[in-house]
Amino acid sequence: MPTVLVLAVPAETGVARASLELLTLARRVGEPVVVVLDEVDATAAAELAAHGATRVLSVQDPAFADFLVVPRVEALTQITQAVGASVVLLTSGVEAKEVAGRLAVRLSAGLVTDAIDLDAEDEGPVTTQSVLAGGWTVRARGTREVLVVTVKPNSVTPELVGEAGEVEVEPFAVTVSDAARRARVTRRDLRVASGRPGLTEAQVVVSGGRGTGGDFTEVEALADALGAAVGASRAVVDAGWYPHAYQVGQTGTTVSPQLYVAAGISGAIQHRAGMQTSKAVLVVNSDAEAPIFALADLGVVGDLHEVLDGVVRGLKADGSS
Ligand SMILES: Cc1cc2nc3c(=O)[nH]c(=O)nc-3n(C[C@H](O)[C@H](O)[C@H](O)COP(=O)(O)OP(=O)(O)OC[C@H]3O[C@@H](n4cnc5c(N)ncnc54)[C@H](O)[C@@H]3O)c2cc1C
Repeated sequence: MPTVLVLAVPAETGVARASLELLTLARRVGEPVVVVLDEVDATAAAELAAHGATRVLSVQDPAFADFLVVPRVEALTQITQAVGASVVLLTSGVEAKEVAGRLAVRLSAGLVTDAIDLDAEDEGPVTTQSVLAGGWTVRARGTREVLVVTVKPNSVTPELVGEAGEVEVEPFAVTVSDAARRARVTRRDLRVASGRPGLTEAQVVVSGGRGTGGDFTEVEALADALGAAVGASRAVVDAGWYPHAYQVGQTGTTVSPQLYVAAGISGAIQHRAGMQTSKAVLVVNSDAEAPIFALADLGVVGDLHEVLDGVVRGLKADGSS
């Protein structure tokens, strides 16, 4: 059985759901060994075991927080070689993709980013990506000894193993070179917490476009009623109505939630590129001819302020929120 190294990320309690998704995919193609570049508490270890981790390695080094990504790349290079992994899985994200790219170079490995699936085939693991604004599906197989893959969050449902044994967390020591310590992080400013889930991990995303006229009151109210993240089109970001961190699309964040609500968004190809792998799409637009309706599982023609407000009132009356 090939060894699959999974980079797992701790959450407030346990492990990030996206990391458990990676474990589910890893089990399809080999034996999952998990590495956490942090401390691993008992809750996290139990969760990882329940989702099929055969080993859990914990690597702690102050350099991971004090410097940019290179110390983490060095650590992952050493661990991949030490456990003899032929596949390395990370969750897609701006930093993770930088780590994955650098790791692939160091290991002379193949690299696939933003995969949405991973399957075992006779000749080796095959990744699936949705590319060119979702117009094409690409299936790829690595031709090198090692394949590094980043997987979009919400691509699969995490699956528990039948009989989970216990795994002991193994401390793992790595060497971080002086060269990796050239770009020190001098300050971190935490974004003011909105209390909403992050855009990439959210199960539901409610996005507003130019049709909001810059008033996100109803978009945010619906997001809060559904426990969703807020997203925005580029027109909104360019107008300065919402920060770029919330932009969905080709030059923003790619999301794949269970439900995507597009309110006052026309459906330009660059926006669709960032959301069309969503499992279900609800569109609210005053123009029945808006191209975004082509993606809609449910479409409502109307003023978004009225429609979203009505939905929020309905949810509240229903006691669903
Ligand atoms: C290189 C490049 C990269 C880009 N990257 C991105 C990207 O990452 N993300 C992105 O989003 N765009 C991106 N764009 C921009 C993209 O082409 C569109 O311009 C943008 O998505 C339009 O945003 P919008 O749908 O909010 O606005 P519009 O296209 O102006 O659509 C507004 C919609 O709101 C509807 N509307 C108006 N009033 C109401 C109302 N009261 N109630 C309900 N509906 C209403 C209208 O009918 C219309 O359909 C990119 C463009 C380029 C060239």
